[in-house]
Amino acid sequence: MTYRGRFAPSPTGPLHFGSLIAATASYLQARSQGGEWLVRMEDVDESRTRPGAADGILRTLEQYGFTWDGPIVVQTARKDRYRDALRRMIARGFAYPCGCSRAETAGAPYPGTCRDGLPPGKRLRVWRLCTTGEAIGFEDLVQGRQSMTMGGDFVLQRADGLFAYQLAVVVDDADQQITEVVRGADLLDSTPRQIWLQRLLDLPAPSYVHIPAAVHANGQKLSKQTMARPIAVEDPAPTLLAALNFLGQPAAAATSLGEIWERAIESWTVTSIPRVTRRLVSGGQIGSKPSRRAATFAM
Ligand code: GLU
Repeated sequence: MTYRGRFAPSPTGPLHFGSLIAATASYLQARSQGGEWLVRMEDVDESRTRPGAADGILRTLEQYGFTWDGPIVVQTARKDRYRDALRRMIARGFAYPCGCSRAETAGAPYPGTCRDGLPPGKRLRVWRLCTTGEAIGFEDLVQGRQSMTMGGDFVLQRADGLFAYQLAVVVDDADQQITEVVRGADLLDSTPRQIWLQRLLDLPAPSYVHIPAAVHANGQKLSKQTMARPIAVEDPAPTLLAALNFLGQPAAAATSLGEIWERAIESWTVTSIPRVTRRLVSGGQIGSKPSRRAATFAM
């Protein structure tokens, strides 16, 4: 079977260093095995989409020398597929309407209030998937053997009618015949839910590799919400070398972007990726020595 990997950015802002790392790792994992690498625009949460962000991300990927296979898949064009999957789950009794408000369900795992039917006075707000308390196990090439619970019945379709990320990603990965998912460790706790959904939908499970998350010096997750800086587009080589370094790969100085990629594909070793979270310190200053929990990474 051909190796098929993917990069699935959400078009909520410009590409930042955290997403560059996910793109780089998934790309090298695919290309070093002669596999295909697909790009999917994850705009399923339309409330977070920013105009122009998708184009900006694609242009940045091009400037960094990434090349992808096939057309870009866009989630907002695939709502029929998500609706089909939801209908199948409803027909088989795995999904149920829930009328609990956000305030009623905040914080703790959902206790299953509406599982046996909407209680009097409640109206359908969201569709949830039945889960069990059982742990879902999977082998992660970087994080090692994982065994995690799903954290309660989760949402497949939101109160605003939008399909949930968990549903979209599972349907997309199956339709695109993705054999391995390489992504940031911030998504690690989504994986048991996705595997559960794959089982209920009778879909094959890809393998998983979760690369360490990059966080701000104060420990906050790098994201558009925390104002992670967009990466440089004028002179991508130093930032690409920093990404390779972050991933524990040898990144020798090279004359061109093409040469950096060539060497990176040749020497790519997925098992050299460190497991730990790394704090980014800007200005080239190296912080404290790597610890087991968080290492500092200068860029
Ligand atoms: N769209 C998600 C993000 O940008 C990634 C989802 C995934 O790789 O499964 O964080």
